[in-house]
Amino acid sequence: MKGAIITGAKKIEVQDFPMPESDGYHVITRVETVGICGSDLHFWDLGDLPAHKFTRVGHEHSLVVVDPGARTDLKPGDRVTSIPLPAPCGKCGPCLEHKFDRCENRETGVGNFPNGPAGSMAEYFATAPSLVRKIPDSMSNEEAAMVEPCATLYSAVKRQRILTGEKVLVFGGGIIGSFAAQWAKYFGAGYVAMVEVNKFRGEKNLKDGNIDELFDGADPELVPKLLKATGGKGFDFAFECTGQSVPINTAVLACKIGAVITMIGSSDKPAQLNLIPALYKRPTLKFHLCYSFDEFDEVIQLIADKKIDVMRHYSCDWKLEDIQKAYEELKKPDSDKVKIMVQFPRK
Ligand SMILES: [Zn+2]
Ligand SMILES: [Zn+2]
Repeated sequence: MKGAIITGAKKIEVQDFPMPESDGYHVITRVETVGICGSDLHFWDLGDLPAHKFTRVGHEHSLVVVDPGARTDLKPGDRVTSIPLPAPCGKCGPCLEHKFDRCENRETGVGNFPNGPAGSMAEYFATAPSLVRKIPDSMSNEEAAMVEPCATLYSAVKRQRILTGEKVLVFGGGIIGSFAAQWAKYFGAGYVAMVEVNKFRGEKNLKDGNIDELFDGADPELVPKLLKATGGKGFDFAFECTGQSVPINTAVLACKIGAVITMIGSSDKPAQLNLIPALYKRPTLKFHLCYSFDEFDEVIQLIADKKIDVMRHYSCDWKLEDIQKAYEELKKPDSDKVKIMVQFPRK
């Protein structure tokens, strides 16, 4: 069967992989739709990490059960998605408290994560039974593949407990920043501003109603303009979705004293924080990755109930054989794409 794997810096290739074999435990699935994630792009940029070997990419997906393995509640033909985090042991302290994403015996997640089990960017995919989730009939393949990135931002924003009317600043208008802004509105923010240099992505967020105001990241007067937009007081929360130094420092300057700044963006280059303004502003800096298993399930329900529109971030379909071009497209600084999904032939 065909699948895609990162083979070097800015190189992803379609290769032949052995079919996953039934073992009575793993759930074997046929893959229908897989999203390309921003984290895939970082690893593609790097090509390798010291002492790590990349496995097949793919962790945002819509799947069809072929062999339910140990899952007695599933049958062939059921439509599912799966949590791409490491399967929890179910026995350690965090597992017993239902904090499965903090399992002490975890190894690594599927997909692009170095040395992890092979991801779902392939015709067939095998995963641990505890990670598989049924999806409602009303949910499209694309919505199901959107659950994973949507859950990351649901978790990042929900945990900040934004109060009604508070002011939120988002850096970056890619998939992560767009979902951050959308959830900030959902959780009651009174004013959401976005800083973005890519005109298409910024204006799309404005048009979609994710944000109230857009600011150009290249504007030398950015900080005074952001402060003016909050009546001189500064923002209550910032979500940094780019991993770059300038936005992190801008967040400190544009937030009020004691604000919460959550870092979700990543970069292969070290980000630098100017400490003097940070000392004066005393923000709480948080780092966020992934979601709890409960949050993943909540997002499936919210999408199914049409409480959150994930399809506004969907750009286009793509073919597996052209995957290299999709990565190149998403890395263009002026790209008009946000989320590209690879569609596999239906059987
Ligand atoms: Zn992802
Ligand atoms: Zn555990």
